[in-house]
Amino acid sequence: MQTAMNLILLGPPGAGKGTQAKEIEARRGLVQLSTGDMLRSAAAAGTDVGRRAKALMDKGQLVPDEVVIEIIANRIDQADCATGFVLDGFPRTLPQAAALDDMLRSAKKQLHAVIELSVDPKRLVERIAGRYCCAKCGAGYHERFKRPEVAGVCDACGSAAFSRRADDTEEAVANRLMAHYKSTAPLTGYYFCKGYLRAVDGMAPIAEVAKEIEKVLDDVP
Ligand code: ADP
Ligand code: ADP
Ligand code: ZN
Repeated sequence: MQTAMNLILLGPPGAGKGTQAKEIEARRGLVQLSTGDMLRSAAAAGTDVGRRAKALMDKGQLVPDEVVIEIIANRIDQADCATGFVLDGFPRTLPQAAALDDMLRSAKKQLHAVIELSVDPKRLVERIAGRYCCAKCGAGYHERFKRPEVAGVCDACGSAAFSRRADDTEEAVANRLMAHYKSTAPLTGYYFCKGYLRAVDGMAPIAEVAKEIEKVLDDVP
């Protein structure tokens, strides 16, 4: 069994990438690298890049390739990534995938698997509409599918403050889904041809999806 692994989670918005990346992080100690979270932090910090990204994110449009490529290139070289990482939300376009190939090659790192979560588009809208997170620690919840154990209290940190994402509006979600099917869906074929693609049914409950992913990871050569 592999312990240090570098993974990509692929799938449309709302498929459960963030949820499963956190599960993998907790179980296997791999670092979750979410470009969405990094861009939201940059926006909250009010950096130049963050402000420009926020305007696009709020509309549900992709941020330019060079911006996210630079963010990931700087992050992947940091010491905590040496024992493995899970990319969540990157790459999202073919040029981003090619840039990742170059980064890994020059860092003498390898990719171990690309896990694709497939979910019926109708269910994605339902998942995104009910999504919220802890305002303090970012733990993710869902109004129907993942409620905190004690109502109104975050399981992870005990905070009682929750928030919704600014881009989980109907219009932004429609744009994000379209961006996914236009720009990100080709990555399935890209990673299939390279031999990395592993399909997981993302329609099952969270714990079952996590079990399926564990099985896939146990089989990684
Ligand atoms: P992504 O990172 O792919 O956009 P998230 O992990 O944020 O997706 O999940 C979207 C929403 O759906 C969250 O509210 C999450 O709690 C919920 N969710 C995730 N996986 C499942 C699942 N397998 N079944 C039901 N709800 C889920
Ligand atoms: P979702 O939960 O919908 O998958 P993310 O948190 O991954 O959303 O991303 C939110 C937004 O951040 C995207 O709609 C896009 O504007 C921007 N973004 C995140 N990752 C990328 C990327 N790799 N390339 C371009 N834009 C990105
Ligand atoms: Zn919390």
